[in-house]
Amino acid sequence: MTARVLRDGRLVVATHNPGKLREIADLVRPLGIGTVSAGELGLPEPEETGDSFTANAVLKARAAAGAAALPALADDSGLSVDALGGAPGIYSARWAGPAKDFAMAMRNVEEQLQAQGALDPEQRRARFVCALALAWPDDHVQVFEGRVEGTLVWPPRGDRGFGYDPMFLPDGHVLTFGEMDPDEKHMISHRARAFKALTEHVLKAHRDE
Ligand code: IMP
Repeated sequence: MTARVLRDGRLVVATHNPGKLREIADLVRPLGIGTVSAGELGLPEPEETGDSFTANAVLKARAAAGAAALPALADDSGLSVDALGGAPGIYSARWAGPAKDFAMAMRNVEEQLQAQGALDPEQRRARFVCALALAWPDDHVQVFEGRVEGTLVWPPRGDRGFGYDPMFLPDGHVLTFGEMDPDEKHMISHRARAFKALTEHVLKAHRDE
């Protein structure tokens, strides 16, 4: 079924975020797939009522696939901090408020870590998670997940990334995601890993025919 994506070549990207659309369009173009965004098709943005990254990605992808009668891809991502019981998790964007103030969101994470006395790197473990859902008009859904493990540093370092990047130090590296060359981040990021799983699966389905 995934091979249809490769042949028919039109995929709805279930996002209203132009940055995400561009990133996904770049990733799938080499597979011969063209993209159109849910925004361009005038599809409504469903409320993210799921209780996990996967649930939210699935509900966004299904809503778009059903409305457009085309395969649709959606992602949902965020930062999950062990000592905070997985928070901010699916609320990662919301912690930054309507002004998208991630300095405030990071400060909030740090204050909660300090309130717990979490000063050692082992007490400050976190991961970025990305769930990608590919939904078909017949309601078949495939989910691919990517994660990158690390620890949270304070104060935040670097201004090259976005969101929580300046406080995230991926395991085995000395630079935070905020300090790292974007190409280097894209090699190891949760989103890259989820896309790798997606493209491997799609390509594999193609090869297996
Ligand atoms: P989404 O658009 O609902 O998936 O929200 C994802 C939120 O998680 C973003 O607004 C960021 O706060 C955070 N996030 C996801 N991926 C990254 C990343 O690669 N770096 C930093 N923050 C991220």
